[in-house]
Amino acid sequence: MIVTVLGPIEAGELGVTDAHDHLFLRSPALKGQELDDLGKAVEEVGNAARGGLQAIVEVTPIGLGRRPAKLRAVAQATGVHLIGATGYHRDAHYEEGHWVRDAPVELLAKRILLDLQWGMHPDDWLTQAPLDAARAGVIKAGASYQRISALEERRLIAAAIGSRETGAPILVHTEIGTCGHEIVDLLTRERVKPNRIILAHLDRNLDLDLHREIADRGVWLEYDTPGRIKYRPDSELLDFIDAMVETGHHGAILLGLDLGRRDYFRAYGGGPGLTYLMDNFVPRLRKRLGFPADEMILVDNPSDAFLWLPDAT
Ligand SMILES: [Zn+2]
Repeated sequence: MIVTVLGPIEAGELGVTDAHDHLFLRSPALKGQELDDLGKAVEEVGNAARGGLQAIVEVTPIGLGRRPAKLRAVAQATGVHLIGATGYHRDAHYEEGHWVRDAPVELLAKRILLDLQWGMHPDDWLTQAPLDAARAGVIKAGASYQRISALEERRLIAAAIGSRETGAPILVHTEIGTCGHEIVDLLTRERVKPNRIILAHLDRNLDLDLHREIADRGVWLEYDTPGRIKYRPDSELLDFIDAMVETGHHGAILLGLDLGRRDYFRAYGGGPGLTYLMDNFVPRLRKRLGFPADEMILVDNPSDAFLWLPDAT
């Protein structure tokens, strides 16, 4: 099953999926960019749904303003499947003294398992009993630019424990697409199967040889910056996906937008907004590929990647 905030669904029910986004988020690394407004989230998701989007993986992890009850409300209001996240981000998102920095692996893993098996806990759970039953469907982890810090390694090991015990996938933030191989090395050393590993933001480093190599290890490659023109024009990403298709590597690709800032949402006065994937990028992708590889990338791949595989270890 795939675990959404409204409960488990069959893999075939997921549909066209944005594999990486944020509807609620608050981080010391993103001051002034807080996402917390339920009405604005409903507006963005509703508009994206009219363009054909059917599911969103909302990967805001523990300690960063995750809002499980609001996620349920958005899913109910829009009919879009929402997959919530447990786990932890890279170091930059936790201030000195945050409990996530000091917690031992056992506690980090316990929090992950509670979120996956019982429901996502409010961020102040250490003092308040959990009230919400929305379960997390994916485990987030993160690494820094060109390195995995000691604390990030501890959190990756906790993520591995969560995945081994449940079969849930682990979605790992890479900083500017670096450390892909190192992250896969660490997680497979911790007995996580490659098909349980999703590497996010790899399109920040469009190195074709590297991507093919990583894809050949059996992990998922997530491209989640379409429309981020400050990084590069979309045409470069389209060329790159085309080249991955040429060697048959599109079976490893997931797409998302990762709009983790107010500046990126129409409802907050910014752009490109959550409609961008289906209204702007995917039509160009379809034209470019000339065959329904986009269906594989948008529907088949996410339904495999986010399916829990309890027997995977
Ligand atoms: Zn993100």
